Amino acid sequence: MSLGSQNSTQYSLCPPGRRRTRSRTTDIAAAIPFRRDLEFSYGVPDTLSPLIRRVIADNPGPFTFHGTGTYIVGRGEVAVIDAGPDLEGHVAALKRALEGETVSHLLVTHTHLDHSPAVRHLKEASGAKTYGFGPHGGGAGGEVEAGADRDFVPDVRLGDGDVIEGAGWTLEALHTPGHTSNHLCFALHEENALFSGDHVMGWSTTVVSPPDGNMADYMASLARLGGRPESVFWPTHGPAIEAPGEFIAALIAHREAREAQISACLEGGFTRIPDMVRRMYADVDPVLHGAAGRSVLAHLIHMVRTGSAACAGEPDGASEFTPPGN
Ligand SMILES: [Zn+2]
Repeated sequence: MSLGSQNSTQYSLCPPGRRRTRSRTTDIAAAIPFRRDLEFSYGVPDTLSPLIRRVIADNPGPFTFHGTGTYIVGRGEVAVIDAGPDLEGHVAALKRALEGETVSHLLVTHTHLDHSPAVRHLKEASGAKTYGFGPHGGGAGGEVEAGADRDFVPDVRLGDGDVIEGAGWTLEALHTPGHTSNHLCFALHEENALFSGDHVMGWSTTVVSPPDGNMADYMASLARLGGRPESVFWPTHGPAIEAPGEFIAALIAHREAREAQISACLEGGFTRIPDMVRRMYADVDPVLHGAAGRSVLAHLIHMVRTGSAACAGEPDGASEFTPPGN
């Protein structure tokens, strides 16, 4: 899932308010080099590299872009990454794409409904084991749009750094919590490539929705991927990211700018999340404002913990927030 964010957009900070003490402006998203160009047909496998094919599911939306991209890694004896949503047409397309091949591994980046549910059909058909960090980790609530898949339990639990070797391919699991607590990315050693799931996407920023989403974890996971050697990232939604280091630096700057916006809202006397969202996301489709509110809450939880915002009690969507020291 993702939170649509505008390309080359000047965001305005909160207007002056009763406690505003200084003036700041931030060009928040202009520096993120989003890419949204993608040629494909639903259900038809595209060969992207010698070892990588992709089949896109017909589940487009404001959180999935064109739909979920299921990756097939290898030739003859293959791994499947994120079988996708439980859609009959998508499962049939995957089975067609895999005809004549053996599926040896079924990998899951994380447990959202647009990523993991279809894996049970491929398991049934192939007998292959499923691999993931673990079942969905979040408490109740906090889900936006696609929601959590609470049924998926991997046959094999992968930890950070675990390596899976197949026929002509090697995938290394990287635990990258933040979007969800159980999110994994997979590095494909043979092609110096990395499957980045929903953690880093080329078309949009991602949703970080508490309680399972965690902004401090997300920022740490971003910094970690920024230091990786891979030259290309393949996200689950949207086109490849071909300069991942620069892209991640822009994502980090974007999140820092969001935090500055929130600080400005607090200084301006806008203390409730819905008021902040209306100001900060004025030019984002209102259908995304609920998800934006979850991201703002994720920032505020992080800010309260690090002392740059204050709140009476445990922060939640209905809390009143103030600048630190108030
Ligand atoms: Zn997701």
